[in-house]
Amino acid sequence: MKITEKQLSLVNERLKAILSSDNYFAKIYKELGITEIKTPEDFRKLPFIDKAELRNAYPLGIQAAPDEEIVRIHSSSGTTGKPVIIPYTAKDVDDWATMFARCYETAGIGKRDRIQITPGYGLWTAGIGFQAGCEKLGAMAIPMGPGNTEKQLQMMQDLKSTVICATSSYALLLAEEINKRGLRDKLLLKKGVIGSERWSDKKREYIANELGIELYDIYGLTEIYGPGIGINCSLQTGMHYWDDYIYVEIIDPETGENVEDGEEGEIVITTLVKEGAPLLRFRTHDLSRIIPGDCPCGRSYPRLDVIKGRSDDMFKVHGVNMFPSQVEELLGTVDGVSSEYKIDIAHDDEINRDIILLTVEAEGRVNFEKTGETIKNAFKSKMSVTPKVVVVSLGTLPRSEKKTKRVFDHREE
Ligand code: ZN
Repeated sequence: MKITEKQLSLVNERLKAILSSDNYFAKIYKELGITEIKTPEDFRKLPFIDKAELRNAYPLGIQAAPDEEIVRIHSSSGTTGKPVIIPYTAKDVDDWATMFARCYETAGIGKRDRIQITPGYGLWTAGIGFQAGCEKLGAMAIPMGPGNTEKQLQMMQDLKSTVICATSSYALLLAEEINKRGLRDKLLLKKGVIGSERWSDKKREYIANELGIELYDIYGLTEIYGPGIGINCSLQTGMHYWDDYIYVEIIDPETGENVEDGEEGEIVITTLVKEGAPLLRFRTHDLSRIIPGDCPCGRSYPRLDVIKGRSDDMFKVHGVNMFPSQVEELLGTVDGVSSEYKIDIAHDDEINRDIILLTVEAEGRVNFEKTGETIKNAFKSKMSVTPKVVVVSLGTLPRSEKKTKRVFDHREE
């Protein structure tokens, strides 16, 4: 997507605010002699920001507004090292709620809906984002937070929830539970708003069919407000994102160059109006593409395709690069296998080789041994690597309320 004049002038305003705040990035830009963004060429001279840099600025080094204007912080959970702290002004909080309300509207959710919110509340941006957007929209929030499935199902029936907000893993767990208890006819659920992460078509179909609902992928990340910066419309042709708040680039993760619209690459986001912690050219490591052309729904907001995976989720065994999404696609073709799986990679010193162990779940009606053989052969022919496959009963692998970690590399331990 080419950057527009309007977006350029907003970036320039953000740059001015950063420079005058003398924050962590001000020092970097001053060193590089960056003082103004007037042209697309100026914009492309801005260095990328990586999450590691946000950690360097811990705790409040990226704050670009005066202390008296900061009303809240959120934090992204780092798997390693220090967390990242993102400060928000009152306007940032309000802008985020406005974007989120726009997401609900785009999904056809309105004031009369009752929205059951299962993502967590606290330092994490999820729960409170879903809630603020719901209140801005004027719908009724049912702020459950994660876990306690018993109570979730009770409230879902008693309060007649029409919308469920969850991670795909938790939505799957709820769908399985509702199926098991035969509760579907007692529910009024119509829509599910699912935090966007890479999830298989198989899982999507299962959840949609079991619950009899339409599913919407909501996109976002803590560094850029939180969830709510984009969502798909009912035509399901990709996620519309709010280009009056953010500018999206797709880059080749290796070279850092912009790719053409329609080509796959890494999403890089620039915040256009954020005050507390403006970020220019933040590398998300999420892989997707811009969908060229207009959506038949008539909305002029541009579209991102579903997230294909993360550039840093790639794992390498015997010199072959693999993505979890490839494993998911492969499992989607095998009869009786669920969408949950786990991969362990270790090094066997004895034979001096890397060993890849794939654990998958299968329904009781299929032969586990044969299923394991089928998966092993499919894996070998598609990825040129032969895994050891363990087949376990459905429901054995953990379902989590947050994004599920599926690949465990034990080689460096
Ligand atoms: Zn649309």
